[in-house]
Amino acid sequence: MTQKKGMVDLLSLKNNEIRRLRGNEISMIFQEPMTALDPIFTIEQQIVETLKFHKDLNKKEMKDMALDMLKKVGIPRAEQILNEYPHQLSGGMLQRIMIAIALICKPKLLIADEPTTALDVTIQAQILELMNELKESYDTSIIMITHDLGVIAETCERVAVFYSGQVVEEADVAALFHNTAHPYTSGLLKAVTSIGDKSKELYTIPGMVPAGGHMPKGCRFEERCSKAVTICKEKAPELIEIEEGHKCRCWLYNESGDDK
Ligand code: SF4
Repeated sequence: MTQKKGMVDLLSLKNNEIRRLRGNEISMIFQEPMTALDPIFTIEQQIVETLKFHKDLNKKEMKDMALDMLKKVGIPRAEQILNEYPHQLSGGMLQRIMIAIALICKPKLLIADEPTTALDVTIQAQILELMNELKESYDTSIIMITHDLGVIAETCERVAVFYSGQVVEEADVAALFHNTAHPYTSGLLKAVTSIGDKSKELYTIPGMVPAGGHMPKGCRFEERCSKAVTICKEKAPELIEIEEGHKCRCWLYNESGDDK
């Protein structure tokens, strides 16, 4: 595999090489802070763990950094919280602490897996705002994994829509919402409720995702797609660029599917 200058092929790294990147250059926020944090260690112990591994700092320097980070993520009475345990804190506080742990080494990439799912909506908004602010001040890129189209609209610049393990559409956020191409993405957008929506029933995409190990030979969305044509059942579409910066995996946009 050719590799662009300055790029790292993560799959080719040895265990000790990838451990140097984890928590340092790449870190992660998990969706359930109550279970992601260790109940038997204090907040301070959990924040400085990454520093111990990646930075050459003494105890006081690590504590100062942990304290500073807690203040940056908006934790009140931060000094006291350092000595507390996860069960003593609310879900919103714990998610802020997860963000503090993830950003303590100023990573280049932060992977956030449904970071606000377990939180109520007002706390969700605060956490998303905080992540946006920190992204700017730390110059960190964020991969946001979410099912929530509202979160995508609020926080993302570029979006990849996955269906059954494949990217089916990839575009800038505005193009995805205003110039939707793939029938699955259209279905997702149709299934969003809004204030003032008078329809009696919530729209759902009929059918089920194909079971792993039983993938159809054609398009994986074919059984559920109202726009399916003959070729969709026979041959799997490729992900192709349908306009600048906008890709879609669907025969409706693929000229080589002319025999459809
Ligand atoms: S390839 Fe065919 S079945 Fe698949 S999404 Fe496009 S139209 Fe629907």
